[in-house]
Amino acid sequence: MNNTVTCIDCGCTYVQSHPGERIVHGYRHKKILSYNAYHADDNKWPTYIFFEIREEIVKRASRILRTDDKSAREKEKAALEIFRVWWLTSFESLLFSASLSRTLETHPDFPSYVLSAIENQNHVQEILTREVRERLIVWANRKHANTQGIRWNSLGEVLARKK
Ligand SMILES: [Zn+2]
Repeated sequence: MNNTVTCIDCGCTYVQSHPGERIVHGYRHKKILSYNAYHADDNKWPTYIFFEIREEIVKRASRILRTDDKSAREKEKAALEIFRVWWLTSFESLLFSASLSRTLETHPDFPSYVLSAIENQNHVQEILTREVRERLIVWANRKHANTQGIRWNSLGEVLARKK
């Protein structure tokens, strides 16, 4: 039986009957609440997405990016869905650092993350057509993306930090 629950306080989804998931949730819960105590609105911890859902989002969006008869608008939207999953994963890797940074400055915001990934990550450039890339750059700049100081972790292709 799959009794998946979403915690209304921290937004994490986990399987309640699974002891390991309960322990991980307890650990994340404490860290996310202490993080959110210092931040408001858009700067709060990003909404959690269950891992199976992430895989589905990336799979479906990747299919759209590879389909010739999808419009640039649809592909732009699909690319942003993939980026949001990667960004969340990158953000979450902060959870496992010894001390949770209390300032958002140690992780790029979403538009900055997208722009830096397009400019610096080869695996990203390969999945986007030039037109989609250009649309995303316009989108990110309109949202005041700032890529200054962003470093990419060479081990995890989607993990970014800001100095
Ligand atoms: Zn919780």
